[in-house]
Amino acid sequence: MKEIYLDNNATTRVDDDVFEEMRPYFCELYGNPSSMHYFGGQVQKKVDEARQRVAGLIGAHPEEIIFTACGTESDNAAIRSALEVFPNKRHVITTRVEHPAVLTLCRGLSKHGYRVTELNVDGEGRLDLDELRSAIDENTAIVSVMYANNETGVIFPIEEIGRIVKEKGALFHTDAVQAVGKIPLNMAESTVDMLSLSGHKLHAPKGIGILYVRKGVPFRPLLVGGHQEKSRRAGTENTASIIALGKACELAGRYLEDENTRVKAMRDRLERELLSLIPAARINGGKADRLPNTLSIAFEFVEGELILLYLSELGICASSGSACTSGSLEPSHVLRAMGVPFTCAHGSIRFSLSRFTTDGEIDTVIRELPQIIRRGREMSPFGRELLQKS
Ligand code: PLP
Repeated sequence: MKEIYLDNNATTRVDDDVFEEMRPYFCELYGNPSSMHYFGGQVQKKVDEARQRVAGLIGAHPEEIIFTACGTESDNAAIRSALEVFPNKRHVITTRVEHPAVLTLCRGLSKHGYRVTELNVDGEGRLDLDELRSAIDENTAIVSVMYANNETGVIFPIEEIGRIVKEKGALFHTDAVQAVGKIPLNMAESTVDMLSLSGHKLHAPKGIGILYVRKGVPFRPLLVGGHQEKSRRAGTENTASIIALGKACELAGRYLEDENTRVKAMRDRLERELLSLIPAARINGGKADRLPNTLSIAFEFVEGELILLYLSELGICASSGSACTSGSLEPSHVLRAMGVPFTCAHGSIRFSLSRFTTDGEIDTVIRELPQIIRRGREMSPFGRELLQKS
């Protein structure tokens, strides 16, 4: 059975060209880029090229790019750095819908004497900027707001947020892990001080990320030790993955147009057809500005896990809007923050497409999902009642 992979916000397949680019750096060109000899030096040149390619995708200078191990590390490094830079400012602002990479860190900080404000979102997953304006004060060290939400694809107005943050003199970090490669970003004309990116969301391997730190923004490293990355991130560079990320970013720039036309058209068709074929379905964040590849759709009176199981039997990979915490399936913190009713949140499914998605795959989902939802609804009294009415 060939998989139909529609879970690209969880991770992506490595592009063949990316894999070819990194392949020589395991068994042939395995030198340490910090070494004085020619053998390490040739790897250093490729690392420099990768830094330029990454910078090119987000409109940054190569020196502003710090290679890290993942998006999670980048998020942690940004927030912890700001707290070290401003030891007397003990207030952090974030949102209720961040990825756990930010949220768990911030909630931990609140147990260590920091004041943490989590901004609310409305029913469509949008932020209220007036709430941000009244929350921020002279004591705020950093505001960390994601560029786009991993579950719903809702995009936040990052530049508007940045302008508010700058007025108060705080640092501004954005977790752009889901945005990079899907929408255009230009740090040269941005209010963002620090930005996180993760390779495995844009067809590079797992275990590589970057933290962008704007020139002039004070920074304290999370990892100390050797002088790698200009002493901003110690540890021998993950050369093969860095080189892969460079290639992936170059390709992402080339495919950006495709993402916003062909991929978006497939997502829109999937959305339109499912809404017309399946009763009592709604789009989570449907009225907000969203990433072109993401569809979070809620089906009332049916369990998301059951839908995933049936889809999985057909080789279709998606994800649900629930998080398995302490053995019970709770609707995700994102859908809860949006106030999505429990009966819908439980039946929420996220489809996330990529440039490898085909029209034929979308046809299969459109053909199979209505029957799957019907089967699922037949299992509950409310579901059966709904089926009788529709
Ligand atoms: N931030 C967001 C918005 C994400 O979606 C993810 C991964 O799902 C991360 C951070 C974590 O990135 P990584 O898996 O590279 O640590």
